[in-house]
Amino acid sequence: MFGNKLSSLSIITASLILLYSPFTHAGKTQHRQHGSHEHGSAQLNIAIEGQRLYLELSSPAANIVGFEHKPHNDKQRQTLKKAIKILNQTSLLFTPSASAQCKSNKIEVDVDTLQDEHDKKDSHHHHSGHADFSAHYVFVCQKPSKLTTLQLLLFKPFPGIEKLQVQLLTETGQSAITATAQKATIKLK
Ligand SMILES: [Zn+2]
Repeated sequence: MFGNKLSSLSIITASLILLYSPFTHAGKTQHRQHGSHEHGSAQLNIAIEGQRLYLELSSPAANIVGFEHKPHNDKQRQTLKKAIKILNQTSLLFTPSASAQCKSNKIEVDVDTLQDEHDKKDSHHHHSGHADFSAHYVFVCQKPSKLTTLQLLLFKPFPGIEKLQVQLLTETGQSAITATAQKATIKLK
């Protein structure tokens, strides 16, 4: 139990550093720290600071596209392309409280372990047989005091995500929740 608590704390600390570091493409070499890679399960870190709502999603690729290698054929290439498109559309993934008037402002999707361009022989890139996708989102909210819930829509386009381990960090505290398609509304306050 205790060990568990400690490790989630360190995850959130690592996430915080990531969340609050600028999401520049230039900084892409720094790689996020993953939680556990468990098929069917994914992680979402939520942080709220002032007007900003930060979301950091990471998931085994298997949950999103059904495979964890570079696409072998056109069908898999299409699947990957479609998944990237969906991951770039916040309206298909998350709904913050409407009255908070949040607009998505930054999106960064990282699936590069599965992308063709990466095919060039990079010997230092060890292949574990698993791959993770990650995506970062920043929303800016006009009325942050009204930001009370976040609805998770992502279970619909990505039914492979059976449960989502949510870490919520606000100015007043932190909590951990497990969300599922049946329990897809996160209370932020
Ligand atoms: Zn895997």
